[in-house]
Amino acid sequence: MSKKYQPSEKEQAFLNSVTNGKYDRQIIKGLKKFIDGNAPEDMQSFYSADELEALAALKGTAQDVEARMPVKLTRHYFELAKKSAALQVLVKANPQETVDLDGSSDPGKQMSYSPVEGLIHKYEMGLLYVSSTCSAHCRFCYREELIAKKGIERADGTVAPKGLAQINDLVVYIKQHNAEVAANGGRHPQTGREKLREILMSGGDPMVLSNRNIAAWWAALAEAGIESIRLGTKELAFYPKRFDETFFDMADKFHATYPGTKIRLMIHFNHPDEFLLKDDDGNFITESVGGLRWHPDTKHAIGELGKRNWLTVDNQAPLIAGINNDPDALRIMQREMKQNKVENHYFFCGRDIIGHKAFNIPIEESWRILNESQKGLSGVETHARLSITHYKGKTEVVAVTNDPLPGVPGAENGVVIMKLHRNAEDAPEKGLITILGRNPEAIWFSGYNDRVIYDEAGLFANLDNV
Ligand code: SF4
Repeated sequence: MSKKYQPSEKEQAFLNSVTNGKYDRQIIKGLKKFIDGNAPEDMQSFYSADELEALAALKGTAQDVEARMPVKLTRHYFELAKKSAALQVLVKANPQETVDLDGSSDPGKQMSYSPVEGLIHKYEMGLLYVSSTCSAHCRFCYREELIAKKGIERADGTVAPKGLAQINDLVVYIKQHNAEVAANGGRHPQTGREKLREILMSGGDPMVLSNRNIAAWWAALAEAGIESIRLGTKELAFYPKRFDETFFDMADKFHATYPGTKIRLMIHFNHPDEFLLKDDDGNFITESVGGLRWHPDTKHAIGELGKRNWLTVDNQAPLIAGINNDPDALRIMQREMKQNKVENHYFFCGRDIIGHKAFNIPIEESWRILNESQKGLSGVETHARLSITHYKGKTEVVAVTNDPLPGVPGAENGVVIMKLHRNAEDAPEKGLITILGRNPEAIWFSGYNDRVIYDEAGLFANLDNV
């Protein structure tokens, strides 16, 4: 049992000034309400009778879709999704999800880098699990093991669900890590890493926590010497009203108390239907002042975020079959993001989660889609890169070529070039590349095991890890 954290006087004064908001997300949890016909009348038809029958037949079997990933939906998202085939794929359970349950129970082998429960310290930054749910659930969620509370094998061989981080444990770890770094001349004696100065709060979605809870994390991390706090959230898509006056009041007071600690919001829009309004013909609406018409709640939230120069907002999202394998939609999204002060950060190839074959787009096709989507964008709108998460670290899919490379065995159909973009510990291999013979079917690294042409990055050095 971890010790209770004792805030400093300054910290306590800030926490005493924070108020919690009241939210009515009108969430439907689970399929039961739909199957029993007890969902609100207008929401009941979100699933057809045939769909519900097929899903109900899987209940309690090895193909149970809710055992893989719990079903959850807000009214806000329902209102958007009823007019969007893409959003329906994102949030509606589908029997196809469990036809092939191949995949990793711990994608990215995160548990190998968990020195404290709820903390993954793989890169220079630390990732915290502070919540095990979101306001709604994406069917493709790459944290399905956390959200569905599945047992994961630890480094010591024991199996238990991933636990959430506790403030006291984290503060003790950060201070100890940074003291060891300072005592060793600025580098950690074992890992070579510098001071831990950045923390990503994730889960689940930290925005399901109360303002007081978020404030307690932010203040404790700032007191421990953390200089930037990232917060990963899809709440702007699921329930933008969460970004209300009480939240901004808390955030402004935090900034006034801890001006040295910056907030970086990592938001998650997959598709423009998640924030743009449509006319009766299903087309986006052009604003007379330029740009497209946003949902007013989302526009308000993004506008308030944009007013605060100590806070940055970046969008990142996976490319998922049936949702955003659409260059035109992605082009619109990237343009609208940048126009509203949101940086386009990463698009991801789907991870090798349990059931990933139902969601993942082939790697080469993902590259093509993103590349097509960026034709017609300006330089500042095209900052997003395509990333695939190798066990070693985030890897950029840099290019896919079509023509044979004369004289290079294995390159008869063109090549895929990958670059190790981040690397565990102090990133010794960052920037190294791997060149592969093409395989248009490949949805994971393993699809290239037999066609490695050049592997400077060592992505295929240990085939158990790909
Ligand atoms: S918002 Fe993120 S963590 Fe939440 S269900 Fe979707 S993918 Fe998973």
